[in-house]
Amino acid sequence: MKKRLVVLGAGESGVGAALLAQIKGWDVFVSDKGAILPNFKLELDEASISWEENGHTDSLILNADEVVKSPGIPDKVALIQQLRSKGIPVISEIEFAGYYNASKTICITGSNGKTTTTMLVYHLLKEAGVNVEMGGNIGVSLARLLAQGKTPDWFVLELSSFQLDGMYTFKADIAVLLNITPDHLDRYEYKMQNYVASKFRIGQNQTDGDYFIYCHDDVMIVNDLRKHILSSTLLPFSQKEIIKTGAYSTCDELIINFNNKPMSVYLHELSLQGRHNLYNSMAAGIVARVLKIKKKSIRTSLSNFVGAAHRLEKVVTVRGVDFINDSKATNVNSTWYALECMDKPVIWIAGGTDKGNDYSELSALVKAKVKVLVCLGVDNSKLVQAFKGSVPVIIEVNTMAHAVQKAYALAEKNDVVLLSPACASFDLFKNYIDRGDQFKSCARNL
Ligand code: ADP
Repeated sequence: MKKRLVVLGAGESGVGAALLAQIKGWDVFVSDKGAILPNFKLELDEASISWEENGHTDSLILNADEVVKSPGIPDKVALIQQLRSKGIPVISEIEFAGYYNASKTICITGSNGKTTTTMLVYHLLKEAGVNVEMGGNIGVSLARLLAQGKTPDWFVLELSSFQLDGMYTFKADIAVLLNITPDHLDRYEYKMQNYVASKFRIGQNQTDGDYFIYCHDDVMIVNDLRKHILSSTLLPFSQKEIIKTGAYSTCDELIINFNNKPMSVYLHELSLQGRHNLYNSMAAGIVARVLKIKKKSIRTSLSNFVGAAHRLEKVVTVRGVDFINDSKATNVNSTWYALECMDKPVIWIAGGTDKGNDYSELSALVKAKVKVLVCLGVDNSKLVQAFKGSVPVIIEVNTMAHAVQKAYALAEKNDVVLLSPACASFDLFKNYIDRGDQFKSCARNL
C-alpha cells in the first residue's frame, strides 16, 4: 500500500514537496488553512494531487504516515501538537526533499545576508563552469527542483531557521552560518538560545569530509560552537583577526587561505561594498576555494557580481542627492550595517511594523550620520521616542510618496536618502518588495 504524505500549507515549498512525493509514489494530500493561490491549485490539479483549502479536515490528516509542514506554520498550533502526540513525524520540505537528493549541497543560513550570499555563491560557481542549481528559501524549493528532474553536481540552498527546524537527517556538505542576531523570537518562545540552536542545525549530521564555514567575529556563534561537536572541517572568517585557514581582511585586502594556497582580492574591487557584504564575500570566497575554483575566476566574479534588489541598492542620483533602497532591512541589525557604510550625511527613512526592536544599538551611528529621520509607519511613536534627542529633524509621514518628497526637500547636494526601515512592511505595504518598488519609482519620478 502507498504511504500517505500530508502536506500542510500550499506555498512554494508545500507544492514542491507534493509534486515530488507524487512522482515518488506517495499517496499525497495537501491541506491549507487559508486560500491556495490559483497557480498552485492548477499545478496540484495537473498532477492529480488532492487538496483542500480554507481549513483542515482532521480525518484526512491524522491518518498520515508522514507530514510536511510549511515553514510559516508554528509548532504550537493544535494540529501539529496532535500529530506529534500520535507519533506521526512532522518534517520540513527540505528534509523530505533530502530523501531523494543525490547531489551535493551548499546550505547557507544566518539572520541576515542569506539571499545575498546564496546568489553570490551561485554566481561564483556558475561563472567557473560548475554544474550548479540554486534554490530553497530564495525562490524555487529544493523539492520542486528535484521534481523537475534536476541533478546538478551542487545545489546552493538558502535555508531559513524554520526550514532548519524540521530537518533531521538532511546533511549539508558545506554549511555556511553567516551571523546570529535576534529575529523571529516569537517563534522560539522568546528564548534566544532556541533560535541559536535552530541555526546550528545547519551543521547537524556533518562528517569529517564536510565543511562548516562561519563568522568568527559573531559572539553568539563562537560561544555556541563550543557546545557542538562537529566533525566537519571548521573554516572561520573574520574582519578582526588573522585566520590561518578560512578568510580575513586587512585594511585593503580580502584574503582567503585554504589548503595553504592563499589568495587575495582588493577590497575596492569587490562589487558588494560595506562591512556586512565583506563578510558575505568572505563566506562565498571560501566556498569557491573549497570547490577548487581558480583564483582568477573568483577575483573576477567577486568584482562583477550584481547584487539582489532591495539590499543597499543604488537607485538614482537627483541633483547630487543619492537614493539608496535597502527595503529588505527588516531588522535593526541589517539597518546598522547600512548606516555603518554610509559616508555622506543621511536622510534616513525608517519605520513600519515593529518586531520588538531595540533601537539603542543604532544610537551612536544615527547621532554621527543622520541629519533627518523620516518616520514612515502607522505608529511611529517608538522610533520618534528613540531618536528625538539625537536627530535634529524628525518628521512623520504615512505614504512613500510623501516620504520621498519630504526627504528630497530637506536634502542638500552630497546627501544620501536611505530607505532602511529596520521594521517589517506590513502596516503600509504588501511586503518589502512593494515598499522598495514604491521608493524606487517615487525617487525616479522626482
Ligand atoms: P536574508 O536573506 O538573510 O534576509 P539579504 O541578503 O536579503 O538577507 O539581506 C537582508 C538585509 O540585510 C539587507 O538590508 C542587507 O543589506 C543586510 N545584510 C546583508 N548581509 C548582511 C550581513 N552579513 N550582516 C548583516 N546585514 C546584512
